[in-house]
Amino acid sequence: MQDIEALIADLVAANHILSAEHVVDAFGHISVRDPRDPKRFFLSRARAPELIEAGDIMEFNLQGEPIDGRGRQPYLERFIHGAIYEARPEIQSVVHNHSHNVIPFGVTGEKLYPIMHSCAGIGHEVPIWDIADKFGDTNMLVSNVAMGRDLAARLGTGATALMRGHGCVVAGRSIRHAVQIAVYLDLNAGLQMRAAALGKIKFLSKGEIDAVNGPGVGSERAWEYWCVRAGVPYRSAGTPGL
Ligand SMILES: [Zn+2]
Repeated sequence: MQDIEALIADLVAANHILSAEHVVDAFGHISVRDPRDPKRFFLSRARAPELIEAGDIMEFNLQGEPIDGRGRQPYLERFIHGAIYEARPEIQSVVHNHSHNVIPFGVTGEKLYPIMHSCAGIGHEVPIWDIADKFGDTNMLVSNVAMGRDLAARLGTGATALMRGHGCVVAGRSIRHAVQIAVYLDLNAGLQMRAAALGKIKFLSKGEIDAVNGPGVGSERAWEYWCVRAGVPYRSAGTPGL
């Protein structure tokens, strides 16, 4: 039980960090898979991330059905999380957000690639999912299991995918990993737009991306820094890695 309480505390912290770093605003969310049961995940009730407390965290099955709802209103787009956990057994944490810098890439089809070493976690390239391709005119929200699974298929084996006219998803090996990629995905998008205005960009090569993402990459230092910036207690993961 102690481990679950610590995991929930990290999930609450992650919500506050993503808000402090302007990856989410009133909207957007992060979840974590239940280590006791891989067919379940934790996600807040529908609330702005900056305001989330431990009592807001609900548990869902991979179809997005609450395990213990207690009258709490879930996020409409919880299906994003369940579908990615269903498709990707190695993924432990999922972020969905509408950060402003990624939107221009999703609507133009201009591909995002890692532009600096700390952004290598976004992957070799970032696929774009267009909800209209399969579902026609919608309100753009991933509001059922079929939509979630279609998005998860576009994500494939990668860490990130853009959602046309909407935002993006990030899949990580841990809460810390997913937060780090989400922060640097937004940064990469902003830098790529600025660099593109100057001239032709030399992105990281495949080998450089693989080297950065190799063993020993650690986000504990970043996690401590982000906790302090967000004003939430820092809890060491106990290892220097992810
Ligand atoms: Zn959304």
